Amino acid sequence: MDCIFCKIIAGQIPSIKIYEDDRTFAFMDINPRSDGHCLVIPKKHAVTLWDIEDDELRVTMVTLKKVALAIRKALNPDGITSFQLNGKAANQLVDHYHVHLVPRWLNDGVDMRHGLQPGDMEKIKGLGAKIAAAF
Ligand code: 5GP
Ligand code: ZN
Repeated sequence: MDCIFCKIIAGQIPSIKIYEDDRTFAFMDINPRSDGHCLVIPKKHAVTLWDIEDDELRVTMVTLKKVALAIRKALNPDGITSFQLNGKAANQLVDHYHVHLVPRWLNDGVDMRHGLQPGDMEKIKGLGAKIAAAF
């Protein structure tokens, strides 16, 4: 299947992985809205909230919480934004269900409507390693 996130799960496209179990996967976003921005996905391909099976959604949410706790331990943010987009009208760019986790600091000025801006890969790798070590 020609899905970029399925390829990331399979290791055919490199990623900065922070967590993996038999059904879910989490990795750093390469266009981060804030320091530590990452994505949590089910391994089984589904496109949107409309398509994903209940059990896949459950395990993805459990991993989402694990990753959020690791982010708190690693980066000590004041808050965290989680969001998930469905369909072109909602600006979904990648057609494999994923939930964003965006660490937030008071008055950080992060604007979710901003277009994608590539981050500094060395910095993202460092943040990813910190989060991965906090599970
Ligand atoms: P969406 O708008 O579909 O919710 O967001 C897709 C997200 O995936 C964007 O934040 C984008 O930066 C991220 N993304 C797209 N391609 C890649 C990739 O190849 N690797 C990683 N790590 N993130 C990606
Ligand atoms: Zn996929």
